[in-house]
Amino acid sequence: MTETINRQILLASRPQGAVTPDNFRLVETVLPPLQDGQVRVRNHFLSLDPYMRGRMNDGKSYAAPQPVGEVMIGGTVGEVVASRNGHWQVGDHVGAMFGWQEFGTSDGSGLQKVDASAIPLSAYLGVVGMPGVTGWYGLNRILKPVAGETVVVSAASGAVGSVVGQLAKRHGCRVVGIAGGAEKCSYVKDELGFDACVDYKAGDVLGGLKAAAPQGIDGYFDNVGGPTLDAAMVLMNAFGRIAVCGAIAGYDGAPLVMKYPTLILISRLKVEGFIVSEHMEVWPEALGQLGGLAASGQLKYRESVAEGLQSAPEAFIGLLKGRNFGKQVVKLI
Ligand code: NDP
Repeated sequence: MTETINRQILLASRPQGAVTPDNFRLVETVLPPLQDGQVRVRNHFLSLDPYMRGRMNDGKSYAAPQPVGEVMIGGTVGEVVASRNGHWQVGDHVGAMFGWQEFGTSDGSGLQKVDASAIPLSAYLGVVGMPGVTGWYGLNRILKPVAGETVVVSAASGAVGSVVGQLAKRHGCRVVGIAGGAEKCSYVKDELGFDACVDYKAGDVLGGLKAAAPQGIDGYFDNVGGPTLDAAMVLMNAFGRIAVCGAIAGYDGAPLVMKYPTLILISRLKVEGFIVSEHMEVWPEALGQLGGLAASGQLKYRESVAEGLQSAPEAFIGLLKGRNFGKQVVKLI
């Protein structure tokens, strides 16, 4: 019998500042024979997500650090290629957390069956996966938008931001995105249907936001932190809500200082951070809605697809620099 080789990417070292390719190591291992009760999955797509940057550090966080020398953590979707478990058949499509590798082996736990007939497999890593639910949760449970209000979201063309803005439009809000560059801003307005988009790389975010949100901001979905958050806070209306979802501007170690914390009091703001995996109770409802909208084409999304496992480190470094345009995935087969 021929041996099957599994290519894997390990965390080789912890980054000092920005992530570099030598923080990762590609290795090849021979897959052991399947044991009774086990399932083997060929991963088709790997998800690259900003949270992975935090796991590469050894500091205080909401989750334990990724151990050095082990396969990088990550969401995957793939197909069962061998099974000695009665619940799983060869050909089943599954979502899992197998990490940065081509094959995954499980005793059946941690696998979710997904239906790739109406929605492409890769979308289960984005619009109908963890990022989609993140947008859904922050919008519906924290911002709680009311028709006529103004909602602003940063990293607007990305996996989370694009969902937030499109759902906020469906609530009848004025929706303003913040994104890096003219091309991303055009996409946000012309394809996703936002009312306006501010290109923060063109400078004067505050001026741009003032013009785009003349009635002030009622809900701000923060994906980046730093000066963008400061600008949004200045324009928050009384009793506005801020969903603190991410702070990608600081993930490589740049200190993020909130410039105007007293505005929380002055404008009587509700500021709430959240981690989507701590709210599993909303996932079925959120995924049901997101799946229906995505399958009917009412929820649009875009992907940046890197080819082959070996491209994952560069693609991940690019994600942290905004080189992705939409959900970043790696095609593994
Ligand atoms: P995206 O698809 O939006 O990709 C990341 C984007 O962040 C880049 O494309 C870039 O867009 C933007 N970005 C990168 N660096 C900077 C910077 N220095 N300043 C401003 N923007 C920057 O990623 P996701 O949609 O997957 O994630 C968005 C945010 O949501 C992240 O902060 C992530 O950590 C967070 N998140 C939080 C979760 C939670 O449970 N709290 C769960 C999932 C995600 P641009 O070119 O427009 O700047």
